[in-house]
Amino acid sequence: MNALKSDAIASLLQRQQQAHKQQMTVSAEDRRERIQQIINLVVNNQQVLVAAIEQDFGGRSQGFSIMNDILGSLSCLKYTRDNLTPWLENDNRQVFSPYDQLGSTARVEYQPKGSVGIIGTWNAPLYTLLAPLACALGAGNRAILKPSEVVPKTAEVLQHLFQQEIDPLLVSVVTGGVEVSAAFSALPFDHMVFTGSTAVGKKIMRAAAENLVPVTLELGGKSPVVVSESCDLIETCKRIALAKSNNGGQVCVSPDIVYVPQKMLEDFTHELLASFRGFFPQISHNSDFVPSVNRQHCQRVVELVEQARASGCKVISSHDVASLSDLVSADKRLPLQLLIAPAKDTKIMQEEIFGSALVILPYEDINQVITDINSREKPLALYYFGEDQSELETVLANTTSGGVSVNDCLMHAAMHDAPFGGVGASGMGHYHGREGFLAFSHHRTVFFAPQHDPRGEWGLLPPHHDQFKAM
Ligand code: NAD
Repeated sequence: MNALKSDAIASLLQRQQQAHKQQMTVSAEDRRERIQQIINLVVNNQQVLVAAIEQDFGGRSQGFSIMNDILGSLSCLKYTRDNLTPWLENDNRQVFSPYDQLGSTARVEYQPKGSVGIIGTWNAPLYTLLAPLACALGAGNRAILKPSEVVPKTAEVLQHLFQQEIDPLLVSVVTGGVEVSAAFSALPFDHMVFTGSTAVGKKIMRAAAENLVPVTLELGGKSPVVVSESCDLIETCKRIALAKSNNGGQVCVSPDIVYVPQKMLEDFTHELLASFRGFFPQISHNSDFVPSVNRQHCQRVVELVEQARASGCKVISSHDVASLSDLVSADKRLPLQLLIAPAKDTKIMQEEIFGSALVILPYEDINQVITDINSREKPLALYYFGEDQSELETVLANTTSGGVSVNDCLMHAAMHDAPFGGVGASGMGHYHGREGFLAFSHHRTVFFAPQHDPRGEWGLLPPHHDQFKAM
């Protein structure tokens, strides 16, 4: 990488941290005003932003980007702006002091940490930067954003807009390839938020460890769906088809593996494909269906499917297509590929799909499903479709995941006042709402000793005798 660029980012960080030291306390009003500046930037420039995303994806519809990235980011920013006061009212809260009989008190201060580094992904190129930024600013911090190099036009537009409209000592955007991201993750930020793959998340954490930078890692994984015998099949299939088609399957909480009762397998695949075709009568050049971001990612999904097919797995396509490979060089829109019970050693059973394919695993016994889910890395999301409360509670009690939606997919991620994040290989830490405010704040306990120190009268000073006994 250009050493000048690396030095320039390091120097920018130093200047932000210097500005923070000169104003360590940031009032609620200032925080709201800072968030408002970002809201104004997004609202006033939404057309240029969604046009850039459309160009980067080679055809992601502007309507989808407005819904996903613009409204998604704005709702996080506005929620934080409008709810800061109750969160800050807990600021300086008095805490119980075990030494209160001595006349002491204590309180907790939620201080801004300083400068937060935020590395985003290409699949939600604004949201993965601006949703964490909402929490970082709500907590009174400054920030430097690093958009993904896979969406260069969006990155360039963002950098330009922030340069024009926002004080760089408050929020800046830096651009560049993987080598810039690597150098960025090695800088001594006061907190780092990384959204991306588990493999790169490990590198980020290693780099951050050198400077003891606390990290929030928003990663991915293979999110399972448990379909119960007790479900409403048509509604279930409609909701899974809708969720799986969201962003062409390029969503961190996209359904990846669906467990279906063996006796419902045929009806389930039939209804799922019917729902999918109902939403997308055609795939090719259909602007409602988001294409793969680039040929390389499209090729990766095609290879996952073809490798499983070659190993004998039954593959059903939602739409007739002569050759999936031909679509890579066409418009990069893949019909939904259903893979029925691929062998365990196929790549599609090991890697996150992150595209237009879905694994279906038939089951006889719900306990098998639980064992299978627990044999994999802890997923980012888990979904249950059905009306059997006792079975649902069994699944919830015996599995873990970043979050859960019941009788729908993806929706828990849109709860602004509930923590969003992974567990184990799917991530570390949370953001959104008050949890995000707390994650990006330093919790400082301040103890106030009484003027008169009664410890001598209470016999608490050395030399100690044997009069104290634990009870
Ligand atoms: P990725 O890990 O390839 O890249 C993410 C970011 O990491 C990019 O900005 C890139 O510049 C940077 N990067 C790449 N190599 C690096 C290195 N060696 N050192 C430092 N930084 C490096 O992921 P992606 O392909 O952009 O996104 C897809 C993944 O992100 C999927 O796994 C998906 O599940 C996950 N994701 C998670 C969430 C969430 O909120 N949990 C949201 C969106 C996507």
